[in-house]
This record gives sequence, structure tokens and C-alpha cells, in this order.
Amino acid sequence: MTRPNELTFAPLGGVGQIGMNLSIYGLAGKWLAIDLGVYFGDEEHLPGIDLVMPDVRFLEKEKKNLVGLVLTHAHEDHFGAIIDLWPKLKCPIYATQFSAALFEAKCASERNPPKIPVTVVPSGGRINLGPFDIEFIPVAHSIPESHAIALHTPLGTVLHTGDWKIDPTPIIGPPTDEKRLRELGDAGVLAIIGDSTNAVRDGRSPSETEVAATLTKLVKAAKGRVAVTTFASNVARLRAVAEAAQAAGREVVLVGRAMERVVQVARECGYLDGLPAFRNADYYGHFPPDKVVALCTGSQGEARAALARIASDDHPMVTLNKGDTVIFSSRTIPGNEKAVGTIINGLVTQGIEVITDRDALVHVSGHPRRDELRDMISWVRPQLLIPVHGEALHLHEHAKLARACGVPRTMIVKNGDLVRLAPGDAAVIDELPSGRMFKDGLILEDSKSRAVSERRRLSFAGCAFVALAVTMKGELVDDPAVDLIGIPEKNLKGEVMEDVVFDIVVNIVENLPKARKRDPDAMAESVRRAVRSSLADQWGKKTMCYVHILQVED
Ligand SMILES: [Zn+2]
Ligand SMILES: [Zn+2]
Repeated sequence: MTRPNELTFAPLGGVGQIGMNLSIYGLAGKWLAIDLGVYFGDEEHLPGIDLVMPDVRFLEKEKKNLVGLVLTHAHEDHFGAIIDLWPKLKCPIYATQFSAALFEAKCASERNPPKIPVTVVPSGGRINLGPFDIEFIPVAHSIPESHAIALHTPLGTVLHTGDWKIDPTPIIGPPTDEKRLRELGDAGVLAIIGDSTNAVRDGRSPSETEVAATLTKLVKAAKGRVAVTTFASNVARLRAVAEAAQAAGREVVLVGRAMERVVQVARECGYLDGLPAFRNADYYGHFPPDKVVALCTGSQGEARAALARIASDDHPMVTLNKGDTVIFSSRTIPGNEKAVGTIINGLVTQGIEVITDRDALVHVSGHPRRDELRDMISWVRPQLLIPVHGEALHLHEHAKLARACGVPRTMIVKNGDLVRLAPGDAAVIDELPSGRMFKDGLILEDSKSRAVSERRRLSFAGCAFVALAVTMKGELVDDPAVDLIGIPEKNLKGEVMEDVVFDIVVNIVENLPKARKRDPDAMAESVRRAVRSSLADQWGKKTMCYVHILQVED
């Protein structure tokens, strides 16, 4: 697998989907990993799965050649799988101060806090890991300290953009480092491996500063209490809310653990300097309605988060009433529309005014739209562009745009494709093991695990259990036990299905040929088939069926 004279790249996650980012680069027999994130489970398709993460079998096998894991930024889709997967890799981790501090805070909030060392790299800094000379280039995004990674190698320079946008006034941190990116372009860049999230959107993402202005206007105009929900990690947005509150003579109360955690880290890193201290939720009731802004978690409708509890009047400290205002300073991630809709409907029913990004510029994306992608390409002028961080359509549009901008070559790859970037023409030269792992409760499961597919089947078509006690000759000792779970009680004729199944079981057992009767496995199989086909006839659905046979001595 070690290809000493080639520079290679493989996405092990994050291509064809948004989330679960993991990229690896190979050179001189060594591997470098960038980001290790999660994909959020989709309730309908993966019942009971909280998190989906990339399969790291390949890196586990190549552990001794893995020189490190570099983090572009601290969003969950880029660093959310480290706690679960790092024990398989045990490689050094490198990140800038905010990402490292947020990771540490996240570890500390675990039930059994893991000890995972992270080496802090300065923003704009450069480190050498094995054959890789790695540069952290600041870019604007929706969390502090996002970085594009420039990999300088003897075979050429690769720009791994990470998540970015062009925001000349990002509120926190420097804007995207255009000057440095142009310098890279002047020196020659082999390839861009680039963010495609917004490749179908024309124009440019508005600036965080425009959102801040809208928030100030809205908070000033509000009559009653104001609650704002946003992604806790968007510190620029937290700052904007705090400044809006200050301008309106209101205090900020933090509601939700994730919010408290991020605020603490942001304070340590100096990103909330100059703002008065935030209050914790205990103080909420002490302020008159027009003197408070609640900054809440739960913008995605999460049932246990602050906003859902406030909306259903289930929060011990924080309540809202008719005439109050809730601002969703967020975007609803696909899959969460229903949960968010339920909260909005609940609030509206109570006479609370709800403002979302449909009503006002209260949210902007952290990803580049088409004009920003064009700018990046014109600064860096790569020989090759490989779109990542996107679904099929996003990747396709990004590649098309790059070609229209004069990039000589684009390649659309899939997770697991090993691409030779240099020397010579770029090409897919191998397929590495890749896939998904599921976090199922406390357990990390292979995506082919039976548990999830069984739960999915159960959720559609229930389950039948039959237990039989028979003699060694196969005669029933007692009535069979039949339990139908998740199956309607009566069929179309109005008969109790459990009774119908009971009669079929008795009939099958009594009429089996002698040899089959003496063989409990054969008997179980006959009963199972008869029960499934009977339920299919009565109900029109195929269920799971389990038959247990207990042989007792005559
Ligand atoms: Zn991000
Ligand atoms: Zn991302």
C-alpha cells in the first residue's frame, strides 16, 4: 500500500454526503489524516442510531504509518468522531487553540472523560509531520478558527480548503487570507480539494456583520422577552446577539449546556472580550421582560435542548408568553424540518412571534456560493480540482464551475477512491476499504450489523414469537405460546390474528411427518414459514418470526 514516490489522496468520508468528513493524504509511505467527523443519524432509516461515523479500518491497519490527524475546525462533521475512533488510531492530533479547547471541553463533558492529547498549532502556522509540510491558512466560516490546509510536498502543493466562505467582515477572527492564497497560486498549486456545500447557489454568502445588524434591529424593536436560538459553536453569532442585547439595554441569559460550554471556551480564547458577562438561566426570572435576551440551544428542534423545553413550557427557569419573540438564527438541517416545525407551531399557537431566515436576514451560511468559489479558483489557479463536502449534485456543479473557470482538470471521486495526484496525470489507482460505523448506545457497530437492520424491519412490520414444548417424538406437551408484537390485533374478517396463528401452529405441528417431528430445527422452520405466510395473507406484510422449541423427556 505504501507508494513511496507518489502523492495520493483519498476521501474516507464526506464525499456524496455532507458530514462524516475524513480525508487522507499519502506520501513516502506515510499517511496524514485531515478531520474525523460524524454524520447525524436519520431517525427513519437508522432507528436508534445517534451518530454515523467513517469506517477507519484502513487507517487502523496503517496505524504505524499515520503521522497525525490535522483538524481544520471544530464542527461536529469534522471532529465529532474523534472521541469514539481515536482509540483505534492513537495518532497525534493537531489543531489551533479554539478547536483544541472546544475538543477538551467536549471530552470533559463525557461520562468517562477520555484523555486524548491535542497539540496546539498557531493559526497561520506551519508544522512538519513525516514528509508533509502543513500550513494552516485562516478562512472565514461559521465557527472561529477555520483553516484551509496547504500541503507542501516535493511533488507539489495541495490546498485542502476545509469549510470556508469569503466574509470580509466576519465579526470574529480574520477574513479568509486572500493574500496567502494568491501567493500559493503564484508559486503553483497542484490541486484544490474543495468545499462544495453551496455550489448550487449563485452569488455570495452575506456577511456575519449583516446578520448582526438585523439582529440588533429586531431585538431593539421587540416588546416582550426575546429568545434567540443558534448553533452554539457560531461564536460570531453569539457575539452579535450579545451586542444586539447591549444595544437594546438587555442582559443575555444562557440556556443550554452546549451554549455554556462554547461560551466558556470562547471567553478563554478572548472571542467575547469587551462584552459584559452572560447570566446563567437562574437569573432569567429576575429581569423584566424587556430587559432580557435568552440565548438558547435547540435550533434543530432537539427534544431535550433548551428551546424545545421552553416551547412546551417544560423548562424550570425559562418561560415565554404571548407577545414574546423567538428568533431562529439558524438553518434547519435536512432531516430536522419536522422537529423544528413542531416547535415553531407550538410557539405560534401560544401567541409568540417567530422570526426565521425566511422573514429576515437572521442567518447566513458558512460555505462559499458560486462567486466565492470562482474567487478561490482565480486566486489559487490549481491544475486539478476535486470537489468534496457535498452530495452528488453539489460535487457535479462545483466541478462544472471549475472547468468553466479554466481549471484544466476536475475529478469526481467516491469515498474510498485512492487518487494519485502526482506525478503524472491524476488518476484513481486503488480502492481503499471505507464505509460507515454506527454509534448504537454505548457500542460502536459495523454498518452491516444485524441490530440496526432488524430494528428497521421491526419498525415496519413487527414480530411474531412462538414457543412450543414438545416430547422427543414431537408431540405437543401443552398449548403453544404465540405473541404478536407490533401487529394489528384483528384481520379484515375481524378474527383475532393471534388465535388464527395459534390454530395454524397446532395444525402444522400435528400434521408434520414423523421424521420432521423428531427434528426440532426442522419443526421450527416449518412453523416459522407457516406463521409468516399466514400473517402475510391476513395482513399483507412480511414479519419477522421466531420459533423456540423446548424438547422435554417423555
Ligand atoms: Zn464547518
Ligand atoms: Zn463541514
